[in-house]
Amino acid sequence: MEFEGQVALVTGGSRGIGRAIAVRLAEAGCDIALNYRSATTEAEQVAERIAGLGRKVELYQGDISDPEVPHTIVTGVRASFGRIDVLVNNAGITRDELLVNQSLKDIEQVLATNLIAPMLTVQAVAPVMLRRRYGRIVNISSSAASKPGRGQSNYAAAKGGLEAFTKAMAVELASRGILVNAVAPGVINTEMTDAIRSHGEDEIMRRLLVKSYAEPETIADAVAYLASPRNTYTTGEVLHVDGGLKMA
Ligand code: NDP
Repeated sequence: MEFEGQVALVTGGSRGIGRAIAVRLAEAGCDIALNYRSATTEAEQVAERIAGLGRKVELYQGDISDPEVPHTIVTGVRASFGRIDVLVNNAGITRDELLVNQSLKDIEQVLATNLIAPMLTVQAVAPVMLRRRYGRIVNISSSAASKPGRGQSNYAAAKGGLEAFTKAMAVELASRGILVNAVAPGVINTEMTDAIRSHGEDEIMRRLLVKSYAEPETIADAVAYLASPRNTYTTGEVLHVDGGLKMA
């Protein structure tokens, strides 16, 4: 129970990787503030699962790409839980398309969700962590930041920015006991990758050193270490959990 007494805010926690992270942290004793956008039934199922583990859990519905939302959520979490020890910036979207065909709206939405929202959420959470001189922040990046596929320019730019932001925050916050890292998943079995896995399976499999896709729980394990009190010396790091994709 290494997270006993701690509180984690997980964004985009109703499905996929975010759900696995929230459950993993709860299994290790953490109370959970769970943000999601629209999948209320799924979010309620996650909350039920976490409550079943004996942890406190609250849902914070809101589109994290709306600049008002991160501050509103953090105000709510502070009021209800009184502290935030762990922040996992997980919510993310793709709008894959060759750049010449991308609309400004899609570019802006991808940057707003994958890059600006994590920045504003850290801005809202950092003062809470600074007061206790303790915090662990994990940003969910992507192998696309270093190895983008065709049509991923908006997403790769956002995740590359997120990795640079991770390092910048590590510099600003380490002296106050707050460690900031990123996890860069490869191809994980979630709804986000349904299309990629069905259309480009052979090509992706050819590039993978470990010849399988991973389950969300594999990413949750990596996040759980970086977010835990056991991690006392790793900050500004990007941990690739990608079956060797970055070596291809
Ligand atoms: P899914 O599409 O399966 O789930 C996304 C989750 O994020 C959902 O809970 C969704 O909520 C939530 N979400 C999306 N947009 C918003 C928003 N604007 N505000 C609040 N919540 C939002 O994605 P994955 O689980 O696959 O991806 C999770 C993270 O991992 C993302 O950052 C993604 O970029 C990254 N990643 C995923 C990879 C993969 O192979 N799956 C590979 C590399 C990186 P709702 O259901 O309510 O819409």
